[in-house]
Amino acid sequence: MRRFIFSALIIAMIGGAGWYGAMLLQTTSSLNLAATASTAASSTQTTTVSEAPAPAPDPSLTFGSPQAPVFTQKPRILIIPGHEPDYGGAQFGSLNERDMTAELGVDLQQFLDQDPNYQAFITRSDTAWNPTFANYFTTDWNAIVAWEAAARKNGTMLAALKDSPTPAIQHNAAEADVALRLYGVTKWADENNIDLMIHIHFNDYPGHPDGVPGEYSGVVIYTPAAQYDNSSSTQPIAQAMLRRLALYNPIDDLPIESTGIVQDPELIAIGANNTAKPASMLIEYNYIYEPQFVNSAVRSVALKDLAYQTYLGLQDFYTNAQNVSALTNYFPANVYRWTTPVSDNSGDPNDVYALQTALIMDGDFPPAPLTGYDCPHSGFFGTCTQNAVQALQAKYGITGEDASGPHTFALLQKIYNGEMTPRS
Ligand SMILES: [Zn+2]
Repeated sequence: MRRFIFSALIIAMIGGAGWYGAMLLQTTSSLNLAATASTAASSTQTTTVSEAPAPAPDPSLTFGSPQAPVFTQKPRILIIPGHEPDYGGAQFGSLNERDMTAELGVDLQQFLDQDPNYQAFITRSDTAWNPTFANYFTTDWNAIVAWEAAARKNGTMLAALKDSPTPAIQHNAAEADVALRLYGVTKWADENNIDLMIHIHFNDYPGHPDGVPGEYSGVVIYTPAAQYDNSSSTQPIAQAMLRRLALYNPIDDLPIESTGIVQDPELIAIGANNTAKPASMLIEYNYIYEPQFVNSAVRSVALKDLAYQTYLGLQDFYTNAQNVSALTNYFPANVYRWTTPVSDNSGDPNDVYALQTALIMDGDFPPAPLTGYDCPHSGFFGTCTQNAVQALQAKYGITGEDASGPHTFALLQKIYNGEMTPRS
């Protein structure tokens, strides 16, 4: 949930100091006092990180095109699971957004680590900060505080100059130290030649009773507002990413997010106050209450699938892929190996999820006239899946069997395993 990460610092900045401003000053000054002794000597030192500094450019690797920013070395991707190991984020029943973001983040790091064209870094797991970041928050705390204050001053001037738009969404205030750690992540990224920050979140919509799913669904990507230096580098990446994600997920149908990409001037994650040098985007990977997450039996496969789609979105951008379809370079066996026919909910819901994947790849799911909002990629075999199977069978002239029938299953396996059509 993105609304939690809006900064109390911004509220202070725009003059409505009030309660939030008071909280900010108190929290920050007490943290300052606590940190002063240990950081006085280190605040001017370069952070020591085993993965940094950036490697020399490898001339054999060329990414991008005249349309896209050209990277002459391995893109350095920083994965930032939204919220903190034990704090913040949306909840739905016993489900915590902050745990889902960490799981998806680790999955994404694994996909990137398997590809020698990338260097991937991650800020935390579900239980702890990466030691690099835990150490950075300790040794560089005063420097982060000072850097944020300077950026805020510049940001005020920037806003006055550029007439930055009023954000469309009401943000909740983050606690000041949470906000400062988020600024600290940006500062670290600036200092360590990161090319792209990917902030991972799941959406929520206030107003639904706990345990009752809300009315909206789908994905949305937040990008820096146009007046920020990292806006132009972020936009084409976000467009390639949205194009890929939209092949397998509906676009968020909350009206103010229904454009799929939303520019926002206030999100710390993506460079509020013009703090981020790297491209930075914040992806809301559907809503926390959607069935593929609520069902614990299928959740991990759904999260890994989203991580894989994200990896492919990066590939699309860095290779300047054209005419991308749901089949292009998408091999879902990298997410889940599907070997068992299914025709109802009596078996493993991951097999139903895989069946739905094959139907999505073939263009049968969701079955017309239904949409992705009616038919989530859920792992649940219901009317949507039944109708989609029938559409597939009609298209390929298969009669007299259900989804687990030999001809239907063989066809689905060919689609799922990439043996169906030439890949572009
Ligand atoms: Zn969130």
